[in-house]
Amino acid sequence: MDLTTGAFCPPDAEDDPDGAAIYALAARLYPICRSITGQGVLDTLDILREHIDLNVHRVATGTPVFGWTVPPEWIVRGASLKGPCGRTIVDFADHTLHLVNYSTPVRARLSLDELKPHLHTLPEQPDVIPYKTAYYTDAWGFCMRHDRFLALEEGTYEVCIDTEKVSGHLTFADYLHRGQVEDEVILYAHICHPSLANDNCSGVALLTCLAERMRERSTYYSYRFIFAPGTIGSLAWLQRNEQRLNRVKHGLVLSCVGDGGGPTYKRSRQGRATIDRAAACVRCGAEEVSPALSDFIPYGYDERQFCSPGFNLPVGLLQRSAFGTFPQYHTSADNLDFIRPRHLGASFRMVQDMLQILEANWTPLNLAPKGEPQLGRYGLFSPMGGHKANSERVMAYLWVLNLADGDHTLLDISERSGMPFSEIAAAADTLRTVGLVSNLGFVRL
Ligand code: ZN
Repeated sequence: MDLTTGAFCPPDAEDDPDGAAIYALAARLYPICRSITGQGVLDTLDILREHIDLNVHRVATGTPVFGWTVPPEWIVRGASLKGPCGRTIVDFADHTLHLVNYSTPVRARLSLDELKPHLHTLPEQPDVIPYKTAYYTDAWGFCMRHDRFLALEEGTYEVCIDTEKVSGHLTFADYLHRGQVEDEVILYAHICHPSLANDNCSGVALLTCLAERMRERSTYYSYRFIFAPGTIGSLAWLQRNEQRLNRVKHGLVLSCVGDGGGPTYKRSRQGRATIDRAAACVRCGAEEVSPALSDFIPYGYDERQFCSPGFNLPVGLLQRSAFGTFPQYHTSADNLDFIRPRHLGASFRMVQDMLQILEANWTPLNLAPKGEPQLGRYGLFSPMGGHKANSERVMAYLWVLNLADGDHTLLDISERSGMPFSEIAAAADTLRTVGLVSNLGFVRL
């Protein structure tokens, strides 16, 4: 990482301290070559441990995990491809994406034709390196820019992939923030991708900073932050925690939270879980963008495991741009220039707002339900109004007062009004302060 490029401190960092902290952590994680097992995961968890007190769990190679088996630990020392004149064509030391992740060891001299099936490029995006994996197989390969691939000459190529697959462990970690009750909200990020900033250094860094921030707060729910390799990691966590999954009341998988697109939210398999409803009632950034909502599909990240029919947990997926929809996805263009502190900060606040809905959803009762109260008498209406923010707040008062019949929670009112939960909750708090509504109790659905 070149400090002179300012990669650790982009120009918009000053405007968003939360985003800047998340960005700085993502930037530290970015260079590491992670995989589903091996040193990259350990190095990543070591960095996270500087921030939060992680519990690290290890599962031995060969252990059955539901229908899967924990794969060997992958050790990578280096990898290079040299051309006919001894010139280095690609080197793992230059970019972790150059080596197909989890490649078997190879030392060979091959003709260009023999080599080509092992070279991966993106003809449509000739100047980026694609990200490829060879999990659960014995394959190997290199990833490179397509324009460089087109320039390869006939001749003998020297392949050196200095890797090993050894009996070891799958490693994952969690951090528990204890609330008033043992019921849990699980927050999950995958830690198996190498140098890809949005997918998923952004998610890992955001959740770490959130866990850190939460330490200062007392909460109703307990919050379990899980950092694990994709698929096998979440399955191992589910297996280890199978007897206590009834405590999991809500959950969220986070990835790709550092770009300026979206936000997008994929509902849990249940479809109408509280977390699904909460996602519809938050807004993102200064522009207050509503998340684009989509129904559950059995493809994506680890929500697939949490939402498999044997568990069917209320776990959704929150992203900015949805995976697979942006050109930088799974390429070297998903780098530290692609994620921005202000986007990370906006995503951070959006997640906090979703959790606030789980924590602070109460049922208001209108104490003056016959007709609309004259808001001006309570200092809640300015006759000189016309201000947009002001008129929005008045609308929020009117919605809360009208639906505060004892049958509607603040979340119900937010959904019905189409107004953000935060706006409805702020209005309800004020109405309670002036004595127009009472709190019939918190509802943790
Ligand atoms: Zn990915």
